[in-house]
Order: sequence, then C-alpha cells, then structure tokens
Amino acid sequence: MTLPGSPFLARRDGSLQLDGVDLQALAQRFGTPLYVYSQAAMLDALASYQRALAGRRHLVCYAMKANSNLAVLQTFAQAGCGFDIVSGGELARVLAAGGRADRVVFSGVGKTRAEMLQALQVGVRCFNVESESELRRLSAVAREAGAVAAVSLRVNPDVDAGTHPYISTGLRENKFGIAHERAREVYRLAASLPGLKVVGIDCHIGSQITQTAPYLDALDRLLDLVEALEAEGIAIAHIDIGGGLGITYPDETPPRPGELVAQVLARMDARGHGQRELLLEPGRSLVGNAGVLLTEVLYLKPGPAKNFCIVDAAMNDLVRPALYEAWMAIEPLQQRATAAQRWDVVGPVCESGDWLGRERDLALAEGDFLAVLSAGAYGMTMASNYNTRPRAAEVMVVAGDAVLVREREPLVQLFGTERRLPTPSA
Ligand SMILES: *Cc1c(COP(=O)(O)O)cnc(C)c1O
Repeated sequence: MTLPGSPFLARRDGSLQLDGVDLQALAQRFGTPLYVYSQAAMLDALASYQRALAGRRHLVCYAMKANSNLAVLQTFAQAGCGFDIVSGGELARVLAAGGRADRVVFSGVGKTRAEMLQALQVGVRCFNVESESELRRLSAVAREAGAVAAVSLRVNPDVDAGTHPYISTGLRENKFGIAHERAREVYRLAASLPGLKVVGIDCHIGSQITQTAPYLDALDRLLDLVEALEAEGIAIAHIDIGGGLGITYPDETPPRPGELVAQVLARMDARGHGQRELLLEPGRSLVGNAGVLLTEVLYLKPGPAKNFCIVDAAMNDLVRPALYEAWMAIEPLQQRATAAQRWDVVGPVCESGDWLGRERDLALAEGDFLAVLSAGAYGMTMASNYNTRPRAAEVMVVAGDAVLVREREPLVQLFGTERRLPTPSA
C-alpha cells in the first residue's frame, strides 16, 4: 500500500515503514515524540530539480528554514546544493555542516549589521536585499570591512500565489520585497553605492504553491525589469525565482519540481534569456514529504461531543495545524483489525489550539504509536519549548540504517541559562 505524500513511505504486513525501516521499532528505540527523515527521499526531491536543470547554468539554494538539522544540510551540501539563509544563525549552521559560503544567498527583511559583517567575512555569494535602507546599510558595512557586497534586489512582483494568506508573500500588501514599480529606481541606487555590486534579481511569492502559473507571471515581471535595467547599463547576471513549490499533504496535486523547472526554462528561452543563470530556493518541496513525526497515544478520552485521542506530541513539536489549520495525514504505525472511531488527535499543551488532526477515523488503543505524515518541513524548525517541553529527537534513515541526528533536548538545557533573583539582604 502506498501512502499519501511519499513513495518512500509504505505499509508492509500492517507496519508503517520509511525507506524500508520499521517506524514502530524506531519509536520504541528512540522514544517519542520523534522526527524521522529519509535521506533518500530528500535526495530524490533534489534530483527532481537537478535533472530538469541539467545543462543549464543554475544553482539550487535549499531554503534551510524548512529543516535546518546539520545532517540535512550536510546531505544537500554533498549533493552540490547551495543554501538560502535568513539569519546569521543559519549561516553558522551551513558552515558547521560543511556547506560552501560561496553557494549561500542571504534573504530576509531584517538583516543586522553583525549578520551582514559575518556574511561578508565568510564570503556569501549574494545578499537578497529588501529595502533601500538595507542597501545603504549594507554598502556602509561592506566599505568598513573593505569588502564589496554582491546584491540582488528582492522584487515584489504583485502576483497572487493562491495560497494561505500567512504564507503568501508576493502581494503588494506583504512586508516582503521592493515594489515592482519602484525597482528600477532602487537598482539605480544600488548601482551607485560604493560598497555594492549588482549581480541579480530575485522574488519569492509564497509557500505551498500548487500551480505553475504564478511562477510564470512572476518570471515575466522579473524579465521585464531585467530588460529595462540592462537597457540602462545595469547588468543582471542571475535570476532567482525563489521557492514555494507545494507538496501533497495529501489532497493537493502540485506540479512536480521537474515540471515547474521545465516551464520556467521554456519561458526564459522564449524570451531570449536562456543563457542567464537560474537560481531556485526550494524549501518545503525538498524535505516536506521526507519526514514523519512519531507520537504515542497516551489516553483515549471519548466524550459526548467529541472523542479525544491525547498523544505525547503537541503544538510545540509541530505547530502547522495550530498556526495555519494545516491538514496533515495521521497513520497508526501498526494497523488494528478493530473498527475505526472518529477522534480529534490532540497534544498535552494547555491550549485549545493544541491539535494535530481533527475528526480522524482511526482504530486505536492506548499505547499505540501514530505518525503525522509530511512533517519534514516547518516541523522541527518551528518547534518551541512552550510548557517547558524539551524538543523532540531527530533520526535520519541513511541507506537502511537509523542514525540519531539530534538528541532529545535535556531538561536542564531548558532553563540552564536562566538566573534566580539574588536573595534580598535583610
Ligand atoms: C521560506 C523561503 C523560501 C522557501 O519556501 P518554501 O515554501 O519552503 O519552498 C525561499 N525563499 C525565501 C526568501 C523564503 O523566505
């Protein structure tokens, strides 16, 4: 039986397996809540982009905020991937994982001076700049450091990505990017500032996008600008169309990465830009379907209005359902022959918004294990310690072996940096 989301996930003799490894055995060995990732599934997703880009000047920059575990970064770095980062902390992770700074693009609306300096010192490939003030500050920081910062402007193409408002970023009213109609003026400023060198143009229109049309619209808007800028003598070496391609959660039918890339390349060719380097910043589509969150059923609490299945994972481990009302498939690790009942699967956190799935038909008993599917992206990276809950452990399945890639957080680390007030002297 194949399951929604990933060809690497399958049920054999009633047991759920990820890339051939029995998940119940992992839950018992490492404890729950537990994130499990398939390295092969991640590499397969990357290959889908890379195959379509073969023979073209390109760089895939994995948007690591989707899942920034060092083992995940190492996996992508070794496969030739670059990284899209949004903080100095993420840059430090890339370097710790063995990634190359000259394959890093630095995005984000609020880079600090310290982060700019750090990125200049290690030599990131490009800063994706989002405002005039940021341009001026970056130029000043670069001059002080005796460096030149390579810049791309993040243009807001004002296209509707057709996704959830919290994850739509390419509309005029969003905080991101520089308005399309102001972009030429801001490029002129960039070209005039002494600490900067203009190298590209970028956009990122949203997340969990399930159509190609918004990308092609955004690309057209960028190409219009590139043509106008080059006519003025401002050369634009690369075009970066951002990330945002959706995954199956499981009702959605997004285009495969290869289809999206083929359409983008065809549009570039049709407009005479086939030689230009193309950058992409996929996050979710590289890792989302490669991971699951395992959890144990603590208590079954049938009630007059609803039946609650209380599990040991919560909104602090996986916030997507609470934050975006995201629907994520939930599967028992071992199938039961008993009849299914309808359950709300909820965590122990003291919030009514603490749920992982509502109205799910499941045959359950206390002590059973469940998997939340498609949890490889924006799962662990958005985890918190709310309710003083240590963050989950993470395991990666590598060629049939389960490797612990993050220990369960020790309790003492949760408040080890806190201080009690000094005892008042009487
Ligand atoms: C978050 C983000 C991405 C990746 O988005 P996904 O939806 O995970 O593909 C790419 N670029 C930028 C600038 C981002 O902020």
